[in-house]
Formats: sequence, C-alpha cells, structure tokens
Amino acid sequence: MKDIVTEVRAAFTDPVSDEECELVIPPGGRVYPRPGEAKAGVAHPGCPAIADLAIGLDAFWCPKCGWNGRISGAWAGDMIAGAGEA
Ligand SMILES: [Zn+2]
Repeated sequence: MKDIVTEVRAAFTDPVSDEECELVIPPGGRVYPRPGEAKAGVAHPGCPAIADLAIGLDAFWCPKCGWNGRISGAWAGDMIAGAGEA
C-alpha cells in the first residue's frame, strides 16, 4: 500500500522570463526516463501544456507555445530523485 499516485510540483523562477514556473514530477518519474516512461516537465503561466525538460542543458522548452526557459538541472535532478524515493 505504498503507491504514490500523485504528482509532485516544485515552484521555481524561470530566470529568462522572471515568471514563476513549476517543475512537475509524475508518479514514478525518473531523472533520465526510458522511452515510454513518465517524464518530468515544467508547467508555465498562460499555457496548458507541460514543457519538455532538458535536464542536461539546464533548460526547458514547450512545443506548444514555444516557451524557452532555464532551470537548474542539478536542482531538478535532486527534486526528481527525491520525489522518486518518497
Ligand atoms: Zn507552453
């Protein structure tokens, strides 16, 4: 009975836009997911999509609205790893 079914969200400020965004970590999310696995992404203001996280590039990008933001890959990796151990 230890299934974690809720996603984890962690707020941060995108230094490019100076807007508050949220790292969204799905249940079972991994820092480096294999194809088909749930991926962490970034929720950003004014857009319903979750942007793609490029952890190795310290960046995220939304294919829907074209948002191009920066995120600390080390911080995101720590958050994802921590969420996975919860
Ligand atoms: Zn977007």
